[in-house]
Amino acid sequence: MRVLIISDIHANFVALETVMADAADRFDVIWCLGDVVGYGPAPNECIDFVQSEADLCVVGNHDWAVLAHPDLKIEHFNPWARAAVEWTRSQINEKSRAFLDSLPAKPLEPEGADGIIITHASPREPVSEYVQSPEIALENFAHFETKMCLVGHTHKPAIYRWQLRHIFSRRGSRNGIPVTVDYLRPYEGQRVRLELTDLERLILNPGSVGQPRDNDPRAAYALLDLEELTWEQRRVAYPIDLTQSQMRVAKLPRRLIDRLTYGS
Ligand code: ZN
Repeated sequence: MRVLIISDIHANFVALETVMADAADRFDVIWCLGDVVGYGPAPNECIDFVQSEADLCVVGNHDWAVLAHPDLKIEHFNPWARAAVEWTRSQINEKSRAFLDSLPAKPLEPEGADGIIITHASPREPVSEYVQSPEIALENFAHFETKMCLVGHTHKPAIYRWQLRHIFSRRGSRNGIPVTVDYLRPYEGQRVRLELTDLERLILNPGSVGQPRDNDPRAAYALLDLEELTWEQRRVAYPIDLTQSQMRVAKLPRRLIDRLTYGS
């Protein structure tokens, strides 16, 4: 099975269409890691697409914000994000709202794909925590049991690799078997082989379709091949100015419009 992994679309339908054209026929199923809306100008279009095309989707913090979910404190959002949430609330139709409301917050275990969970943010805090350092990743490896966990939320492509080392301490005890977590920032087109022995586990982040934040403005997504056991990082340039002009028409905050230019 070949899986197209998309995350953090953030109502950027132009970016989403470009990703779909780039992925073309290279996948069998689509998994979406949440934050379908927020920030961008086309919430209903993006929700319609995910609802009709994605095989799985989990809820993101911005999806919850739009729903005014009681577990999400919108006060923690910066003023621009909050303005976008309020605008999105005024735009989404009943069908879109019902779809967002149906999305699960708990990590999902996709059928037919043993050893994988998917969640928006982290296994420990599925809707809100940023896995953005090996230290935070290390703590999170204790919060799931499968070999792989796919996350979004940071808007930065990343691979965290947990390794158990069979090294005995000098005192000969196995107390505190050394575990290491290293971080890889996958570059465009990089295909990483997933060595899934008992000694290795992974947290994988495809980056963001609609609002990348790793100083590369191109839309990010990943292709996970469960037969070949590979994770391919993809980046694709899309007509950013088109999304930006839609945002101007919608009177979304200038700062949110500008940041797409820089991928920040
Ligand atoms: Zn997001």
